[in-house]
Amino acid sequence: MCLRRNRRDTFPIMVGRWACDRCGFVAWTRDRSGMREVTGSHLLAHHSDALSRSDFRVSWDCPYCATAKTAYDTDGAVAEFKTHLHGHVTDRVADGVHVADRVSWDGVVRVDASPTGDEADALRAHFHGAVGLVVAVTPSPERLVRALDERLDAWPRRTVIVSTGEYDFEATPDVDFEGVGIEMVELDPRLSPDEVGETVSRILDANRQPGEPVSLEVSVFHQIVAAFDVERAVSFVRMLAARLADTGGVLQLYVDADEDRNVATVLNFLDETIDLTVAVDDDRFVRRP
Ligand SMILES: [Zn+2]
Ligand SMILES: [Zn+2]
Repeated sequence: MCLRRNRRDTFPIMVGRWACDRCGFVAWTRDRSGMREVTGSHLLAHHSDALSRSDFRVSWDCPYCATAKTAYDTDGAVAEFKTHLHGHVTDRVADGVHVADRVSWDGVVRVDASPTGDEADALRAHFHGAVGLVVAVTPSPERLVRALDERLDAWPRRTVIVSTGEYDFEATPDVDFEGVGIEMVELDPRLSPDEVGETVSRILDANRQPGEPVSLEVSVFHQIVAAFDVERAVSFVRMLAARLADTGGVLQLYVDADEDRNVATVLNFLDETIDLTVAVDDDRFVRRP
């Protein structure tokens, strides 16, 4: 008997998406109903002057149509205005999409989250759960294994973990690996970024099936920036991005620029290489303008 334990409240692989046409903000939510609060609050921030308070009353005047309301119940009026604003964009909410659709499953996505945090795990599962081949360069293999096991209904066809960190499959006896296509490639910690890149390239050659998008996770960027100069850290990402462009797939760069000023500096040089930056905000994924 196989007991699933501690199942996470998983984020679905396919989600709802709304992109603001006034700024670059994009939100992805579990479903259409989760979008109501996002759009209303966001549009209200753009149109804050459409809401006025006088005496004991609150008035709003819709910027999109002729509707106007005045009420004594402040909270109720604001909520009603948000719902009204949402109504103007409901037909622009897309269903059944993936964050990677934004880059047509081909490009570099910067994930603004500590590689060892829950927020990163939510996006990891979202990306890795949608493809056949996952290649993850990570310092913490056990974290990756647990994130995928707890958050996905099924493992990808093939998962290759590349790490200098040790991992013994016996370390997670509660994870059932039967029928799971998973492989661990141990890296010599003295390897240069070029050599790590070559290892990843060989793994892609050996494991990829034609027409199948690849999810390539890089969670070692902080370590690479710490160990090498800016130029080599930048060229490492550019090289992997170019390699993946041949294959078709999304490279996710997990970084916490707030935590490390050097990482923030290197990311500036990668501005042209990064196609999309996403973060986790409460229960949703967002692109902030
Ligand atoms: Zn906006
Ligand atoms: Zn209106």
